[in-house]
Amino acid sequence: MSVTGSTLEEHWPDQPRAAGSAPEPEESSPRHELVREVLIHGPITRGTLARKLGLSAASLTRLSKPLLEDGFLIETAEPGAGGVGRPVRPLDVQVDAQWHIGVKLTGRQAFGVATDLRASVLAEDVIDLKSSSLEHVVEAVSELMTRLALSVGTKEPSALGVSVGGQVRGSRLVARAPFLGWRNVDLGGALERKLGLAVVVANDVVALTEAEHWFGLGRGLDNFAVITTGAGVGYGLVMRGRQMVTGDTGLGLGGHFPLDASGPVCLEGHKGCSTAMLSIPSICGMVADGLGREVSYDDVMALAGAGDPVALSVVQTSGQALGRMIAAVANLTMVDTVILAGEGIGFVSLAEASLDEALRSDRDPEASAVRILVGDPDFGVWARGAAAVAIQTLVGRIK
Ligand SMILES: [Zn+2]
Repeated sequence: MSVTGSTLEEHWPDQPRAAGSAPEPEESSPRHELVREVLIHGPITRGTLARKLGLSAASLTRLSKPLLEDGFLIETAEPGAGGVGRPVRPLDVQVDAQWHIGVKLTGRQAFGVATDLRASVLAEDVIDLKSSSLEHVVEAVSELMTRLALSVGTKEPSALGVSVGGQVRGSRLVARAPFLGWRNVDLGGALERKLGLAVVVANDVVALTEAEHWFGLGRGLDNFAVITTGAGVGYGLVMRGRQMVTGDTGLGLGGHFPLDASGPVCLEGHKGCSTAMLSIPSICGMVADGLGREVSYDDVMALAGAGDPVALSVVQTSGQALGRMIAAVANLTMVDTVILAGEGIGFVSLAEASLDEALRSDRDPEASAVRILVGDPDFGVWARGAAAVAIQTLVGRIK
């Protein structure tokens, strides 16, 4: 069967398709693993840490000592928890020991956040892109960084993460970014030369999924999926504690999953695919068709919330489609948790009944219930994802 491959090649004739083009596996050392565990699970006792990492108490002490001396790790006070023996002093990260910048690039804007070590947002800002030339984008990110540094008002950031909708190779090269009209652009290299700072470039859904895994709704979970809705529809999957990332990541394959044979058509010609049923432009388009006037996404939410029959019907149909997609994800990957994220996820609160009904009808009655977690619809979650991959990379570089 070569149907899928030939279809892709028709769409993207010069798309690199090398099977070995997935990102390099992240560096792993005992100290890296220690910092990772404390970042994700802290505060955490030395006993639990030693068990999880397979280390002796002496090895853990030796590994953590320089990190405690540098102020990267701290011992938290937990009075009384130690009972009659020595007091338990769980380890945690000093969240303000460093700060990081995350930037999400769209075709029109660079949206940035400054975060602490757990990707909590300290400040945010946005710059309109006048062009998508590499030179202009680098200037815009540089200006954004200056503004965020002023807002945070402390020392230099430790790293910069940038995320784009598209394919990224080796944490630097944007292989394909349709929103920017880019192919094979060394964004990471250009930013590092300009800013003199460690830079990590990532696909936007990968970055958002990493943020949920380490610092968000998926914190500490080994298996879960993420569905994002916004300008398009994205899909991320974490299995056994690691995100699935392959050479096809960034093609947006989850964005065109068939959901409703009677639905509208996406720009690529699929009837009722996930983008056609769930993206902001498509939901607005369906309501506009019904009302005979243009509407924004906020208008749709307000109309549906007030019981407008056209808006409500569209939102409920989208809820049904999302329920089907969640069921398909859970049925095929066997995850029991699905995180819904992105700036277009607001409609879910207005379509809970239709979503639940569709999910139930596509699941075996004896299958475990799917836990659905709904994230923050603020657009800043994308930039926060970019900051999260910068933090992860920095953890890998701690010597
Ligand atoms: Zn489609």
